[in-house]
Amino acid sequence: MIKILFISDNNEQIDKYDAILNKTSNEYYCISDEAIISDVINSGVPDIIIIDQAYKNLRNIHKLIKSYTDNTVVIFLINSSPVEKEILKYANAFITYDMPEDLINSTININLRMKNAIEMLSNSNKDLADSLYRLNALYSTSSQFAGTLDKEKLLRCMSEGMDRALSFSLNCTLSLCTETEPVLILDSLYELSEELISAIKLRTILNYNSIFDGAEPPFKIEIDKLKVVKHVKNTANRFTFNLFQYDNMFAPIKLADNIFGFVEIFKDGSFSSDDSTCFQTIAQQVALPLKNASLYQEIIEANVKLEKLERLKSEFISIVSHELRTPLTSIKNSLDILSSGKCFDMTESAEKFLAMASRNVQRLSGIINDLLDLSKIEAGKMEFKFAPTNINTVIDYVKTALSVVAKSKGIELVVDVLENIPDTIADSQRLEQVLTNLVSNAIKYTPEGKTIKISSKVVNGNDIKINDIFKDSISGLSGDYIQVSVKDEGIGIDPKDQLRAFDKFAQIENSLSRKVGGTGLGLPIAKQLLEAHKGAIWCDSELNKGSKFTFVIPLVRT
Ligand code: ADP
Repeated sequence: MIKILFISDNNEQIDKYDAILNKTSNEYYCISDEAIISDVINSGVPDIIIIDQAYKNLRNIHKLIKSYTDNTVVIFLINSSPVEKEILKYANAFITYDMPEDLINSTININLRMKNAIEMLSNSNKDLADSLYRLNALYSTSSQFAGTLDKEKLLRCMSEGMDRALSFSLNCTLSLCTETEPVLILDSLYELSEELISAIKLRTILNYNSIFDGAEPPFKIEIDKLKVVKHVKNTANRFTFNLFQYDNMFAPIKLADNIFGFVEIFKDGSFSSDDSTCFQTIAQQVALPLKNASLYQEIIEANVKLEKLERLKSEFISIVSHELRTPLTSIKNSLDILSSGKCFDMTESAEKFLAMASRNVQRLSGIINDLLDLSKIEAGKMEFKFAPTNINTVIDYVKTALSVVAKSKGIELVVDVLENIPDTIADSQRLEQVLTNLVSNAIKYTPEGKTIKISSKVVNGNDIKINDIFKDSISGLSGDYIQVSVKDEGIGIDPKDQLRAFDKFAQIENSLSRKVGGTGLGLPIAKQLLEAHKGAIWCDSELNKGSKFTFVIPLVRT
């Protein structure tokens, strides 16, 4: 209902307005007594105040209503005498003594409509400002979510975001993010009494059982054992309220079947439906980063386990290989003595068996050396003797060493090197080891009567053309490199297996691999030795056509 106050000490005008206002359904007062005027205003600011300009205590009235002028329409009833400018400032409209009733009514109505329109505008402005503020809080909260994979921090960001947007008095979050036990986090404006904490715990247990939709909850929570973490903003004050008298909002924190807990906030005052949307949004938004944080934690744990296993495996290999080497050396020495014929008269078959035993001992010691090399490289304990090295000398050495084996298979070893290739700083023995492995493989996987070509040249890192699957191996190569290739006309490697051939213990299934045997260690060792030289290795190969293994090492060692 509209409240109208008419102030005048002119009886004629009071009667006139009394008659006019009486015809409306409004609450109205036509008064001249100052004390009553003040009572009427104090009992609720009128929507319209009409003041006679000739009222004797105009100054006092002006003082009284000055602070209400934002919420009320002030209309001056004027006669011909002048009015003080200061007072006129507050006038929204003017009416005259002799104004007819219909004009007075329409002036009142127009001003009332304007007052309503202004009120509506200011309300929607306020709503808009509130929404903007909330949006801002939501935005900054979700940016904070993106910045961490720590579950505890994520829940803190959630609570801070809710406080920024909704100004709660108390936030009770039950976190199921820890593996061992649930934790009740209380973010409170004031200090909480023991009784209040007990009431909250009880409520928490009821809420906890409700979020699993009848399914078995992961933990059994006992009220006395429930762990509570408290953050109190203002420790000088203490809440004395009964929880149930406050307005509250509740939301589970979950993503599909993953339940991370729930959050319930309380406020002295009431939450609006916009507040509820904002609250639910934040509670939903935190679930995804919490899920990511869980996955991240699982990955870290799996990595730690893997690293431990890898270390154990390396240690095991290293110990076993050492243990095998000593007896193997003594077997080898004994076989050498027996083969020399100094111990007994050698028969043909004895010689054959001794030669077979020697070959296998040789092979076994090769495998043990490979295992030891690998475990040394992986433990970072491989020692390198870097010195000026000419790659063509290394190629020569390997060619000579393997020419007998190649010849026995009717394979021709061809060398096509860059004459006067510059020296580089490298460990020549390790390069011999790499090249020996590549050429031995080429011999192993090439049928009789074919050719194997070993070549050397200088290339620039940017000019290296490489199969896409190996492009990671050469990323970062720049400057000049010595390049060595071993090209065979053998069985080739299927493109899908080429990258795997450089993995430890990898043996590619083909017609020969079982027959020729091997450990699957040669290429990974070569790769690691070359990486220690800041170089790289890759292959080009076509099934049944042949393979070309290529490695590079920097021309100038930095
Ligand atoms: P291995 O001791 O088994 O030869 P490597 O690490 O040297 O171990 O090689 C790994 C696998 O790569 C081999 O088992 C083989 O299947 C394949 N491979 C290596 N070199 C060649 C080649 N020149 N031609 C065809 N396959 C090859």
